[in-house]
Amino acid sequence: MSEATRRSLLAGAGVAAAGLSLPVATGRAEAAAPANGRQTVGVYRYKVGSYELTALHDGTYYRPIDDKFVKNAAWPDVQKALADNFLPTDTLPTPFTALMVNTGSKLVLIDTGTAGQLAATASGIGPALTAAGFDPKAVDVVLISHLHPDHINGIKTKEGGLVFPNAEVRVPAAEWTYWMDDANLSAAPEAARPGFLNARRIFKDIAKNLNRFEPGKEVAPGITAIAAHGHTPGHTVFAIASGNQSMLALGDTAHLPSVFVRHPEWQATIDVDGAMAAETRMKMLDRAAVDKMLVQGYHFPFPALGYIARRSEGYEVIPAMWQPAL
Ligand SMILES: [Zn+2]
Repeated sequence: MSEATRRSLLAGAGVAAAGLSLPVATGRAEAAAPANGRQTVGVYRYKVGSYELTALHDGTYYRPIDDKFVKNAAWPDVQKALADNFLPTDTLPTPFTALMVNTGSKLVLIDTGTAGQLAATASGIGPALTAAGFDPKAVDVVLISHLHPDHINGIKTKEGGLVFPNAEVRVPAAEWTYWMDDANLSAAPEAARPGFLNARRIFKDIAKNLNRFEPGKEVAPGITAIAAHGHTPGHTVFAIASGNQSMLALGDTAHLPSVFVRHPEWQATIDVDGAMAAETRMKMLDRAAVDKMLVQGYHFPFPALGYIARRSEGYEVIPAMWQPAL
């Protein structure tokens, strides 16, 4: 916008504001509305075939980042990608959105949020479940994309109580093998140890209600596990199909879209196998773009739902329109 345009717009705004202030001058009563000061609960419903899906927003973790955030890109290029998307260049806003799928016969929750165990700004999953009318006791299946804390911590309260006491928890077999292997724990660098210990804390006393699945299998009615390894050794995408519609729950195939959808070849340091993660990401994004598939991304901006468009460089997430009726 040119300076002249900006000035004339601001001048116009001033005139409009002056016009709006007229009724006050006539002495009409004013009601001061107190600011609420709190964000609303994040819940959004949509349909895929006959399935009713509910996006449940847990909140956002503001993660400090530095030049080690992406392994194979120059830090100024990463900062530019963030700045081009109106994001801070030293902090990565990382939202968490779990997905409830009501198949008509089963209530299936895909990933669980952090339930306040990662950041004070991310404890919304409980209130979101309540606002959406879900009783956690009624959840039949909890599907886990991978065993990182931001996806599994919502299985338990901070105190260790089970949030979904009647649900069978289903995890990718390769994830289980990797995170529960004591040799991997002892070989892990200091910074990675908490992830291994956290997975043990969450799962240690629920093994009887736990089921490990292989990719390529139907893991709940209409929901198929797709191997999307790299981010972690058993990271899984879920394809959800009902009637003639389908979508992909991408998990962490791509984290924040402005960075890793725009630059799918970039490798986050948090990826266990960066090269494999990038290859998987490009394959998944390309499939979604070609098939014009609806996608859900666990770390996409709420309601974390959109389409993938190919661009001359990388891809872009086009947010899905709000569905006013189901
Ligand atoms: Zn994640």
